[in-house]
Amino acid sequence: MSYAACPACGFNKKATAFSGAYFNVYRCSKCGQEYCYECRGSNGARKCPKCGSTSRQTIGKVTLRR
Ligand SMILES: [Zn+2]
Ligand SMILES: [Zn+2]
Repeated sequence: MSYAACPACGFNKKATAFSGAYFNVYRCSKCGQEYCYECRGSNGARKCPKCGSTSRQTIGKVTLRR
């Protein structure tokens, strides 16, 4: 599934060198929080910003704006 922006924080950014570039959106397996690497508290998408769990699945991607 692809998103226009992160469903949690609304983050997107302009594509730079590569068109079709994207970043992943994750869902925490523990609490269901959706997050990306830019979400506050996710520590670069290393953990859930809500509960701190590192268990997650990739639910989609955000394609960068042109
Ligand atoms: Zn986010
Ligand atoms: Zn969580």
